Amino acid sequence: MSEPSDALSALLHESRRFSPPPELAQRANAQPGIYAEANADPVAWWEEQARRLSWATPWDRALEWDLPFAKWFVGGKLNVAVNCVDRHVDAGLGERVAFHWEGEPGDTRTITYADLQKMVCRAANALTELGVTAGETVAIYMPMIPETVVAMLACARLGAPHTVVFGGFSADALRGRILDCDARTVITADGGYRRGAPSALKPAVDVAVADCPGVRRVLVVRRTGQDVGWNDARDVWWHDVVDRQADTHTAEMFDSEHPLYIMYTSGTTAKPKGILHTSGGYLTHVSATHRLIFDVKPESDVFWTAADIGWVTGHSYIVYGPLANATTSVMYEGTPDTPGRDRWWQIVERYKVNILYTAPTTIRTFMKWGPELIEGHDLSSLRLLGSVGEPINPEAWIWYRHHIGGDRCPIVDTWWQTETGGILITPLPGITATKPGAAMVPFPGISAAVVGEDGTPVKPGNGGYLVITQPWPGMLRGIWGDPERYRETYWSRFEGCYFAGDGAKLDEDGDIWLLGRVDDVMNVSGHRISTTEVEHALVGHPSVAEAAVVGANDATTGQAIVAFVTVKGGVADDPASGERLVVDLRDHVAREIGPIAKPRQILLTPELPKTRSGKIMRRLLRDVADNRELGDVTTLLDPTVVNAIKDRMTTGG
Ligand code: ATP
Ligand code: MG
Repeated sequence: MSEPSDALSALLHESRRFSPPPELAQRANAQPGIYAEANADPVAWWEEQARRLSWATPWDRALEWDLPFAKWFVGGKLNVAVNCVDRHVDAGLGERVAFHWEGEPGDTRTITYADLQKMVCRAANALTELGVTAGETVAIYMPMIPETVVAMLACARLGAPHTVVFGGFSADALRGRILDCDARTVITADGGYRRGAPSALKPAVDVAVADCPGVRRVLVVRRTGQDVGWNDARDVWWHDVVDRQADTHTAEMFDSEHPLYIMYTSGTTAKPKGILHTSGGYLTHVSATHRLIFDVKPESDVFWTAADIGWVTGHSYIVYGPLANATTSVMYEGTPDTPGRDRWWQIVERYKVNILYTAPTTIRTFMKWGPELIEGHDLSSLRLLGSVGEPINPEAWIWYRHHIGGDRCPIVDTWWQTETGGILITPLPGITATKPGAAMVPFPGISAAVVGEDGTPVKPGNGGYLVITQPWPGMLRGIWGDPERYRETYWSRFEGCYFAGDGAKLDEDGDIWLLGRVDDVMNVSGHRISTTEVEHALVGHPSVAEAAVVGANDATTGQAIVAFVTVKGGVADDPASGERLVVDLRDHVAREIGPIAKPRQILLTPELPKTRSGKIMRRLLRDVADNRELGDVTTLLDPTVVNAIKDRMTTGG
């Protein structure tokens, strides 16, 4: 990968640059001196960020680094929930809206910081009554409703680590996580709304906990009113036990390294891992990144991370980061297409959203649906856009900027992982001249490098592996219950460095482009080609909505490129035009990247298999391409999609 192949250089042909808008730059939270300041003494710079939080006891040592185990702000004590809620009320901000919440059926709730404080205190008192104590894990399996945030904060307040499991996961997936982290209490709801109908949650909990002898209590929020099975010895209604509690609660202060939550990775490369995050360093990292990258002005901005709370993005940028910064956020329960495909734009218009953060997969879906849906809406409140979750195709980036951002909003393409806790590679909106498709540079206080096979940094213009060379405050503290797997997974490939598993390229200016997982780099007749680049080329074709590319075993070339493509409009339905399109696409890739990158096979398909966080499951598509048994499918949004593709593949469809 250290040799730049023709394919790896393709991204460098992207020469568009977008400078920060001058008015934004002038007022930006992050000013140009920030990099020099952080570089001079990164640990001291992080200490300065940590001082924006409220600590009951100050730390003695900012960092204890016993590779690969880091402790931040050692000796310091704080309460995460108090930092996210109470201190803002104490500062006179009780009337500020914390969440403009909108349910999918159209019901709304406005929750101020004063409301949130009462809700969290009541929930904390209720959990105490149900026997939850500091250090005991609580599983949360909920729709996107305010009680989900309240449950998380109540756990944080009590020092009980939470593990939030996507509401869309199966009973199996839920059981596995409950057992893995030994949760004793489960918080759920009767159901939530998805695609215009109530979607039950409680039945999956009943199935899951039947095989979890450790679970004592199931606390159930009534959201949809649908019928639920009931176990009197175990189940309690939220409104029965929470509503009658006192709305004050004295919070205990916890050690900076006290566990805050366990989050399972989305499982695109392997079976999900339980990633542990702790308190002081994590909150410092997410609040600093939220403030500086999204340029949030909490007194006036409305911020919207349009993601699920069951994904780390929801933890860091719907809950902990924005609340630590006293931000007003939008939270939406349902899908973007209900009741109409312009639901998001109604929401942006209604709440005058200023900052929108979402994933490339959603942006490509909007591209597929067409810009007409947006045109009738006033999106002029938007001033900044963010992207996360995958490399964003340059064409999707440009589309996002033009159709959503009105060509005036900077885009921050933010690279990070469940493991990193918060954003690590990103532009800063008032400073960085952005390039479509590039995550650009390390955040202040973060030391990253692109290295070759031997671990030495590559020269500009070359591809390699992205590594983080110094500990950072939000970094994972381990894989739950498995320190050896932690060391081996992240710290063994390159000595002394955290290896994220992603390939990257350093361009001639020294800016970073993410190239996807290293397991997704293909070797075709000795040429290393990244799946991301072939996907970028395919998405650049006017007929293509989305593309997933994998390397399949090939007797002649070692690996051969197989592409799965969804098209805009209905081309896929008509076999003759479908065949013509496939020929055209193969030529298009050959033209864009080079003949070596021409896919051996292109399969047109109505859907791609995705996780609930919208990531394409390439490992399953590799299984399909190689005609193998499918691996773990528990984190798929819709498991039928991959079987449908399998059928098409075998029937040559
Ligand atoms: P698993 O580790 O189980 O395979 P996962 O890695 O998909 O799951 P996450 O932690 O949610 O789970 O995803 C992190 C990954 O998402 C990163 O390693 C990277 O591959 C990708 N990613 C996130 N943001 C970006 C971005 N802005 N640009 C490119 N890739 C990104
Ligand atoms: Mg990962």
